[in-house]
Amino acid sequence: MMNWYQLTKEQVLEKLGVTKDGLSSKKAEELLQKNGENVLQEGKRKTALQVFLSQFADLLVIILIIAAIISMFSGNIESTIVIFAVITLNAILGTVQHINAEKSLDSLKSLSSPNAKVIRDGQKIEIPSKEVVEGDMVVLEAGDLVVADGRIINNYSLQVNESSLTGESTNVDKNDDNITAEVPLADRTNMVYSGSLVTYGRAIVAVTGTGMNTEIGKIASLMNAAKEKKTPLQESLDKFSSKLAIIILIISALVFGLSLLNHMAILDALMFAVALAVAAIPEALGSIVTIVQAIGTQKMAKENAVIKDLKAVESLGCVSVICSDKTGTLTQNKMTVQKIYINGESIFEEELDLNNQSHRYLLYDMVLNNDSSIVDGKGIGDPTEYALLETLRKLGYNEDDLRSGLKRLEEVPFDSDRKMMSTKYKLHGVNHILTKGAIDAILDRCDSIAAKDGVRPITQADKADILKQNTEYSENGLRVLTFAYKESDEELNVNTEYGYTFLGLVSMIDPPREESKAAVADAVRAGIKPVMITGDHKITATAIARQIGIFREGDIAVTGMELDAMSDSELDQKIEKISVYARVSPENKIRIVEAWQRKGNIVSMTGDGVNDAPALKKADIGVAMGITGTEVSKDAASMVLQDDNFATIIKAVANGRNVYRNIKNAILFLLSGNMAAIFAVVYASLLALPVPFEAVHLLFINLLTDSLPAIAIGMEKPEKDLLSQKPRDPKQGILTKEFSTLMLLQGALIAVVVMTAFYIGLQVNAATASTMAFATLTLARLFHGFNCRSKHSIFKIGLASNVYSLLAFAAGVGLLAFVIFVPFMHPLFKIAELTGAQIGFIALLAFIPTVIIQIAKVIAENIKKSK
Ligand code: ATP
Repeated sequence: MMNWYQLTKEQVLEKLGVTKDGLSSKKAEELLQKNGENVLQEGKRKTALQVFLSQFADLLVIILIIAAIISMFSGNIESTIVIFAVITLNAILGTVQHINAEKSLDSLKSLSSPNAKVIRDGQKIEIPSKEVVEGDMVVLEAGDLVVADGRIINNYSLQVNESSLTGESTNVDKNDDNITAEVPLADRTNMVYSGSLVTYGRAIVAVTGTGMNTEIGKIASLMNAAKEKKTPLQESLDKFSSKLAIIILIISALVFGLSLLNHMAILDALMFAVALAVAAIPEALGSIVTIVQAIGTQKMAKENAVIKDLKAVESLGCVSVICSDKTGTLTQNKMTVQKIYINGESIFEEELDLNNQSHRYLLYDMVLNNDSSIVDGKGIGDPTEYALLETLRKLGYNEDDLRSGLKRLEEVPFDSDRKMMSTKYKLHGVNHILTKGAIDAILDRCDSIAAKDGVRPITQADKADILKQNTEYSENGLRVLTFAYKESDEELNVNTEYGYTFLGLVSMIDPPREESKAAVADAVRAGIKPVMITGDHKITATAIARQIGIFREGDIAVTGMELDAMSDSELDQKIEKISVYARVSPENKIRIVEAWQRKGNIVSMTGDGVNDAPALKKADIGVAMGITGTEVSKDAASMVLQDDNFATIIKAVANGRNVYRNIKNAILFLLSGNMAAIFAVVYASLLALPVPFEAVHLLFINLLTDSLPAIAIGMEKPEKDLLSQKPRDPKQGILTKEFSTLMLLQGALIAVVVMTAFYIGLQVNAATASTMAFATLTLARLFHGFNCRSKHSIFKIGLASNVYSLLAFAAGVGLLAFVIFVPFMHPLFKIAELTGAQIGFIALLAFIPTVIIQIAKVIAENIKKSK
């Protein structure tokens, strides 16, 4: 078969059965049904059975299996059955969880998956990239991701980065020429390939391959199953589990030896070792962490922060610097023209007069040198640009009347490095170049000025007046655009942009978002440094930063050029004081991130442009804008803001902190409960008492009655003081000294009451003793669930403030009652009949640790308050 790139444009269109008006939506729908979605299968996913079996490949589960076998040999066949049942149940739960977590990640992924612009039924529309089909006419613009392979039909200076396919990191120029020879992929300049990024220009492309039928799809199908990525927390818990397993084996062996020394029968001694192993293994830990993380990310998505990388959930809690764009993120991106400086005076927009030649040229520049439009009263395109159209409308004219009949001859599009844009039009029979942009980009290119008395050479005094006016506008937080023009037949390109005639300055207001000020205050309170990074003028940026509290007394603002002149050590010295970076280029952003990271900070950086991707990748949390952001920036980010709002970042940080804290509390709950059981078993073995728990008792607690409160702790709402603490140190693990001390103390406390219950039961017989110990341990741990909800006392947080914890408690008590009171369960769980008095003791004893822990919390709170 002939290759697509070797066909002419006409042949390609004919072969695909499409015209330049694109497919009809009906045909596109049919093709989608026939050929499937435009997605890559990321290697093979594990089947449910594989996931199920993998649950058994865990040292802790193997220890349990050994325990079951030992139980069988010791004649304890019921225990064996229950342990196997529990292991199987655990594996089923693990499998369901795994599949749910995958689903939840998929749904997050689809929230942040790219869109594509296609022409269908003759109209340009935006659709999810997975709906692109062969034959679609895709419109590519700077900042887009190429989502399918295609042959270029119309090319307007398109440049793409194809490094994901060719490894070549420089941008390549594309064209719509014919290629006759057979050439390698990198030389097929009339084609674009899925996975590339559009870095410049525009093109219309006929799609020749989608999904696995693309060049990148061919590589993807060679790749093996995608590795599951674990978060740092999951990794450290995995490490912790394997260490724990080894420690358990050693201690179990010691306990076994000790029991033998105490002249215990071998089988009984083995039962001690088994009880200990089962007591110590936190069976539910892994799944609880996954569940809590999944709940957290879903909640963030509801609040407009879509997490693309689970790692970000944890890093968010450590964020100590947030670098944010100004326009649209901190401000509303709703531009309105204010005053205009023209012919040496500052006038209101309504005072523009078409009979005045300078005014007329300014309006040409504002409306023609502009890519936006207003449809049904709604601006389309860049808000800076459609604000300029509004001015013309206010004068009673319509931009379409002016634009129709005038053809754009040439253009150099706006880019945030050059900070200006120019276009060429034939006006009154003469070729004119119209330009607009930042004052520092344009003023030095002007050698004449449109003054009141006509065009004349520009003087130093004129320039001083212009700069003075610019400062005055900027100090009021206004954004200022500079306009200039020239008559010229020269080709328009970046090298011919000089010799302009200065026309005027147009100032516009872009008010801060209402919530920005409060969000900045929250960030500061939370020990996070907010930094503004903008392409706008330094004085404008500082004025806005001052209004919303980012720029405070003693702070400094620097421009990209000043930053370039600083050495790294100079930057390191000043960085904590710099709260505004103005006129920055995307490369400056990388330097700012690196400087903060050198100081050990976790940095979040926002970005929307095509050139922002490297800075977003470099930052610990790259944040892209869901509405105005380019697909390339969204692809590079680890979080996407669906409302482009700075305040959403702060909410996400709060959620990140909350998720981490809840996970930590849930782990404290599970491990301190396990400690209690370990202490009790070791104590009994040292004193040669009978085994306090059957293996089934401990499995019942670890897997059933303890799981529910742990999940409830994971659902705990953020506390008020969450944002009044400093960010967490990223290097600090979960098992801090404070955490371990609490775990051991709380575990010991519960062990004391459990053993007291055991002794009371022992006065009757070993079976009663074990039943009482089991019931006390279960109930005490259920009560303990309330202690672990927060470091504050229950009086401060309120008993009913987390209904899940009440439900979990009720369910746990119900399960315990079922086992204790339903005779049918007794042989399975080795339960002895209990008297009313014994039950009373159990309830009382189980409550004691919680009373003590709550009193300790109240005392600690009071000491803190009086300090
Ligand atoms: P932020 O980086 O906070 O989003 P910004 O929107 O000002 O701020 P850029 O879009 O990079 O950043 O714009 C930089 C400068 O370029 C602006 O201050 C303005 O002077 C000029 N500019 C912006 N938009 C246009 C445009 N459409 N045409 C010409 N010049 C523009």
